[in-house]
Amino acid sequence: MRIVLDTKDLAKYPFLKESQHFISDFASDLESFLSGNTGRMVIKRAGDCIRKALQVHDEDDTKTESEIPPHIAIATYAVARILVSCSGERALIDRLVTWQTRQFYENILEEDRDMKAFLAERVGIDITGPQVPVRDYVESVCRLREDHWRLVNRSVIHGLVTVTDEEIDVFIRERLWNGIREQLPLRVPASICSLLAPVLVQVHDLYQKKIMQEFGVIEESAYPPCIQGLLIALASGAHITHIGRFAATAFLHNIGMKNDTILELYGRAPDFNVEKTLYQVDHISGAGGFGTEYTAPGCSAMKTHSLCINPDSLCKSVIHPLSYYKQKKKLLKNREKNAGTEKE
Ligand code: SF4
Repeated sequence: MRIVLDTKDLAKYPFLKESQHFISDFASDLESFLSGNTGRMVIKRAGDCIRKALQVHDEDDTKTESEIPPHIAIATYAVARILVSCSGERALIDRLVTWQTRQFYENILEEDRDMKAFLAERVGIDITGPQVPVRDYVESVCRLREDHWRLVNRSVIHGLVTVTDEEIDVFIRERLWNGIREQLPLRVPASICSLLAPVLVQVHDLYQKKIMQEFGVIEESAYPPCIQGLLIALASGAHITHIGRFAATAFLHNIGMKNDTILELYGRAPDFNVEKTLYQVDHISGAGGFGTEYTAPGCSAMKTHSLCINPDSLCKSVIHPLSYYKQKKKLLKNREKNAGTEKE
């Protein structure tokens, strides 16, 4: 599909190769660009994007996106990606990608059919008819949880799934999410990450704040049975499999426990080796120069590895130990509140 893109289109869809080509005229040397006035403004804007992605943004923007010069908008997209890559926090990367693709999706909804077809082609979807091959369909909906996306609930004829125009828009968004997410984290030179260090510190603080908002103060009594089981085994000096250690460490890191505290928990393991354990904990949490932070395995993976121990009634309503933890904390808080009211 041949389409003429203007600079506004490039700014709206900074992931396009045309947008990247356009920006290369302005920022051929990334380090000098970021050190200059425009670069500093872009870094600040990129930090703001991450703040918005974490939903801790104060609504203080004076300029709307449409007023931003295209090269600044495109550079902001790129620098935000660089920032989260330097942070190494996988959850932060996912949140930025989700936020960015949501912006793109809002723009896509307002496009005419030609532009939609162009974008669909770029993400590998053929929208010439109201049907898509099963394989494309499955690839496009793998993140979507609502029942109506399940293949059993769709009309499939000769390997083709019938879809609506609105659903195609969603497919473009989902394909974009996958494509953009796949490229992250970027391999960023240490000199660039150092240049971004002041904003990176802010980003880390924001992320911690978000974790605190989501999980609050760490409460052992809200740990799911599987994690309690692993920690009891650790404390008693029993041997724990590699995947068990991974699950416990990632879980504790995800709820905001500091690496030093996690390390202490491993102190009683029969084969405890401080250097080795610290290396593993840093690796899983994305600290110490490791690029990627891991999320604790979900219930189905825990079951596969025989780590789902003594599930209780709350386990029936969750698919992830982290969801169990959030729900149990709420329950405990409500119980405490009710007990307080009864005493009065
Ligand atoms: S169901 Fe999930 S949360 Fe509950 S014990 Fe099993 S793995 Fe843990």
